[in-house]
Amino acid sequence: MTDLEILWEKSLNFLNKNDKNVNAIACDIWYPNLKPVRIKDNTLVLSTKMKMVKQAITPEYENKILFAVQQSEPSVSEVIIVLEKDSDLSLIDIDKKEVEKEQTVPKRENPFMEMYTFDSFISGDSNSLALNAAKVVAEHPGVKYNPLFIYSGVGLGKTHLLHAIGNYIYKHNKKLKLTYATTEELVNDFLLSINNIKESSKKAFNEKYRDCDVLLIDDIQFLAGKTATQEAFFNLFNQLYTNQKQIIITSDKAPKDLSNLEERLTSRFGCGLIVDIQTPKIETRVAILKYKAMKEKFMLSNEVAFYIAEISKTQSIREMEGYLNRVIFSSSLLMKNIDTQEMAAEVLSEIVNEKISGKNIDKDIIIETVSTYLNISIKDIFSKTRKQEVVFARQLCIYLISQMLSLPLASIGKLFNRDHTTIMHAKNKIETDLKTDKKLKLQISDITNEFSK
Ligand code: ADP
Ligand code: MG
Repeated sequence: MTDLEILWEKSLNFLNKNDKNVNAIACDIWYPNLKPVRIKDNTLVLSTKMKMVKQAITPEYENKILFAVQQSEPSVSEVIIVLEKDSDLSLIDIDKKEVEKEQTVPKRENPFMEMYTFDSFISGDSNSLALNAAKVVAEHPGVKYNPLFIYSGVGLGKTHLLHAIGNYIYKHNKKLKLTYATTEELVNDFLLSINNIKESSKKAFNEKYRDCDVLLIDDIQFLAGKTATQEAFFNLFNQLYTNQKQIIITSDKAPKDLSNLEERLTSRFGCGLIVDIQTPKIETRVAILKYKAMKEKFMLSNEVAFYIAEISKTQSIREMEGYLNRVIFSSSLLMKNIDTQEMAAEVLSEIVNEKISGKNIDKDIIIETVSTYLNISIKDIFSKTRKQEVVFARQLCIYLISQMLSLPLASIGKLFNRDHTTIMHAKNKIETDLKTDKKLKLQISDITNEFSK
């Protein structure tokens, strides 16, 4: 039995257990006549020979199936039913062959966050140079600006742009091998490769970093003081550069100001193009807020948008997003749209006061509170268990952490040892349920009240 078949069998059992009383026909006739074909891009494709079954399974039933599948495979976010008889069949067969092939050839996973694209990057005076350079590099890697060095203060969109380049090449240039790493990962990989006597770990390092067509390194400033890795990176850089492989680097400072990095390295960074992102003007900040609100289907009034754009002290967009998230979050709890400055000030004053009183809400407090409230141990929350009540507690922690602290999804992923798709799914699941589930609303309200005690 393949993994896919096992997953499907588990899902059928789940449906039988939970749905049989309500819908015997679905459980006895429809579901058993579906066959799993593949999972690709988080979509599970199921096929059936019976037209009637395909017609009978309305979106409502697809959701039931999805929910059942997610019990064992939370990363699946969509279910599609296809008919085996019609033209889909050829597609399925080709895909099957593809799947078989994929199992022998290592699959090229997308290491980039899907939401960080050029489309979701709002352009303004402060960033248009960096954005245009990033687009050129994405369209013609290794040709024009090599390396591309992007720098800015914290939370102004470096990582977003880096992932946007990666996503673009991943989508449009299937043949290129992309290697993305934070500097922290680069250092770890390097140390592993030299401290491990096994030849294989050295080989793994070379395969990852030397045999690539595009290398994307985030936050190079963290190479400061890491002399051995700097040396290795210098050699790597030269090799890739000579072979016209594209290198893209981000940093919190311009190369000349990276005083803790060897000069021979920082001078290399200037061979291509150095661009910075500046703090955006109020209009761009408001445009970003409006875009993010629209994505969340939240009606953001001008008054509140300007207010949020003005109060964030650090000028970081991440901080500003954090305030917006809090407003959206409070609106959903209060069940009314926060659309005046006074209302926004009131819900946001809490964050400001928390900061002043020193009672900083952090991830540990959130996890502890959820754990106590739901009576699920912290150990279970961090475990791989897929028991429904534990999954729920975990999803709730992820949701609250992402709403209340403006932590990037990748960091939350690291915390829970899961990839960003799973984190995003958890967050979306709670968000969707919140719209209809009154009990959940109460639970969240209780938990957040605990924080202010
Ligand atoms: P940095 O890496 O510079 O610290 P990030 O790339 O992590 O910053 O950006 C922080 C947040 O701000 C992210 O959620 C990102 O999507 C958002 N952001 C930054 N600039 C823009 C922009 N121009 N348009 C839309 N979102 C942006
Ligand atoms: Mg970053």
